Amino acid sequence: MWIDTHCHLDADEFDADRDAVVARARAVGVTMQVLPAAHVSHFAKTAAVARQYGLAYALGIHPLWVAQSDEADIGRLREAARAALADPRFVAIGEIGLDFYVEGLDRERQQWFYHEQLKLAREFGLPAILHVRRSADALLRELGRIEVPGGIAHAFNGSEDQAGRFVARGFALGFGGAMTYDGSLRIRRHAATLPDTSWVLETDAPDIPPQWFRDGRAVLRNEPCELPRMAEVMARLRGVELDALARQNEVNARTALPRLGALLDPFAAVFPHPAASQPPSPGGRGLKAPLPPGEGLG
Ligand SMILES: [Zn+2]
Repeated sequence: MWIDTHCHLDADEFDADRDAVVARARAVGVTMQVLPAAHVSHFAKTAAVARQYGLAYALGIHPLWVAQSDEADIGRLREAARAALADPRFVAIGEIGLDFYVEGLDRERQQWFYHEQLKLAREFGLPAILHVRRSADALLRELGRIEVPGGIAHAFNGSEDQAGRFVARGFALGFGGAMTYDGSLRIRRHAATLPDTSWVLETDAPDIPPQWFRDGRAVLRNEPCELPRMAEVMARLRGVELDALARQNEVNARTALPRLGALLDPFAAVFPHPAASQPPSPGGRGLKAPLPPGEGLG
């Protein structure tokens, strides 16, 4: 099983053929995707697409969308997130963060939306899915002030020091298309050397197409079905088997997004393992132990 921890399957680019995109992904084992929203006006569609295809989603205001957002949208996000807590497919606040690469964006406005959304993640005890572009230090500074229960630093391309600080704050680092470019030396070095528990796989489809989509003249639309091939690159870099990488990706995704773990184990939520849920009884008796004669449940 492959989990794509960051895919914009709800994007308009997939409106014409979303069924086929999901079918292609499932055919190669990508059976779970996390869909981060980008703007308040997208929330309903993001959640609907996730439900329709049995996937997961996050709610947030993307830094590239803050110009089209107003302060009251933070209140709308809070209400949407509060309502979505009842939905097991809702797993995080995201995509939020800072983009200091794209020119002409209002940095102060980005900072304000990032700050307010981190506070919401803290308020609801939810992980955050972070957009990091030339902004790792600024993101980390804020994480030092507002503690959230970790999450994912998506499309990470920072220094070793920054990687270590995100990991120390409970974040996994997201790797995908950029890892497949021969010129991405630093990303490839991280992908090769990070501890087993510090990374997750993602496509960011329709964005960040892999190397093999950029070799021709036209850059093709990225798709979640490309995840296993991206993973092959990472498996080679790390010198591990592809199966082992898939299992580690799942473990890491569950750790970074605990509600995703619950979603993947529906029966564990309905029928919790006795050892995990029952306070130990005086006799240390588990649920499976037969009751002594004469002792009922009362
Ligand atoms: Zn994204």
